Amino acid sequence: MPAIELDNNATTRPCQEAVAAATLALTACWHNPSSVHRAGQDARAHVERARQSLAHLIHAKPRDLILTSGGTEAIHLALRGSLATAAPGRRTLLTTAVEHASGRDAAQRLASQGVRVINLPLLPGGLVDLAALDTHLDASVALVSVQWANNETGAIQPVHEIARRCHALGVPFHVDAVQWVGKMPADAPALGASLLSFSPHKFHGPKGVGALWVRPGTRLEPLFPGTQELDRRGGTENVPGILGAGAAALEATRWLADPAPRALLARARDDFESTIRAALPDTVINAPPATDGSPTRLWNTSNLGFPGLEAEALLLLLSERGVHASAGAACSSGSLEPSPVLLAMNIPHRVAHGSLRFSLSRDTTPDELARAAALIIDAVRTLRRSSDTLAR
Ligand code: PLP
Repeated sequence: MPAIELDNNATTRPCQEAVAAATLALTACWHNPSSVHRAGQDARAHVERARQSLAHLIHAKPRDLILTSGGTEAIHLALRGSLATAAPGRRTLLTTAVEHASGRDAAQRLASQGVRVINLPLLPGGLVDLAALDTHLDASVALVSVQWANNETGAIQPVHEIARRCHALGVPFHVDAVQWVGKMPADAPALGASLLSFSPHKFHGPKGVGALWVRPGTRLEPLFPGTQELDRRGGTENVPGILGAGAAALEATRWLADPAPRALLARARDDFESTIRAALPDTVINAPPATDGSPTRLWNTSNLGFPGLEAEALLLLLSERGVHASAGAACSSGSLEPSPVLLAMNIPHRVAHGSLRFSLSRDTTPDELARAAALIIDAVRTLRRSSDTLAR
């Protein structure tokens, strides 16, 4: 039986339309889109159609997108490109300790170059404390950068409220929307931010391609100078990745038009958690507290802490038994350290050490989740039995 995919957005299942589009670029549409001959211009037309589909997914104009090598590059471009052009008096970056590693790394790089980086205080569940933001937001701030949804817990940040505050003071705001776009409706211009990054491999597109939306008038210095992308990013385009991304964006736009499937998936995720908690009552759901109003986390993420267990051991046992999951950020798995994001959320070491992330995709079925829950319960019990035996 194939493994149950609950790893890294479960997008190991590609969208067939994306595969077909990328294949076209590797066969019939092979030419360089910057070439002036007819075949090159044909490739250019395909790239521009893909850009339109990507822009349409976030209600933006195609010319306001810079196509990059992924979410990581888009985020570095947003942060480092903004700070490079900020007025001399503006040398502060406001961000959080729960950003994806790409945002934290870009901030660290800027700090090493003399930028004052402030990690905003967090409320329970890792949400930005807006009152604290108000005290830090002043004329010294060059950029605020916060993710829309957290990659490890799915926690949804109050980006509209942050955007309003930044707009009132004329401070640019970058939203890392890598986890949000393609899973939830997004309207970049209406959000009120200045910059928004996203990545098609989070919605069944290819890896190694991403995009940064830039509100017209936002100042940004390129990371790689060159003439492509309207002089904003040099380098010959990744045509297979871009065409695949465009096809994935079209499919995501269609899927997002109906809210019912994501509501069903959220319920299936909640049932999955209830089943596990009924059998293993000390299981901790690492997430912001539930509210009566709007959801506090994305429908696709379940981050569960099994106190006293080693996440790595549980991951390996689950992999043997046919469940693919991840510990902390997928990109940093392989490390035995607990996730810095969970630690920044004040989750105790004992829980953070034994926390796994289960991610649904739009193709995940309730039956898969029920089978996965049974396998997880059994694996946790097996590991606890063997550590009890060792302790005796
Ligand atoms: N930001 C978030 C919230 C992410 O989840 C990821 C990837 O997991 C990234 C940025 C980096 O995107 P990419 O993998 O396309 O470089």
